[in-house]
Amino acid sequence: MAGMSDGEYIRQGGLCCPYCGSHKIEAECAPVVETREAWQDVACCDCGRAWRDRYDLVGYEDLKPGQLRRAA
Ligand SMILES: [Zn+2]
Repeated sequence: MAGMSDGEYIRQGGLCCPYCGSHKIEAECAPVVETREAWQDVACCDCGRAWRDRYDLVGYEDLKPGQLRRAA
């Protein structure tokens, strides 16, 4: 089965299966940050397909003391 195009997937906001549309999805790993992009492998609990979500670096924001969120 063909999945959504990148444009369709982005328009509907991700967080669902691009093959069957299910919201029962699970991240298979923590996001991996590379030079200008990040990615995360995700699998669908309904149809069993897996894919890699891809994120682009879009900028940065200043953080004041106390706003820093540390990894758990
Ligand atoms: Zn699915």
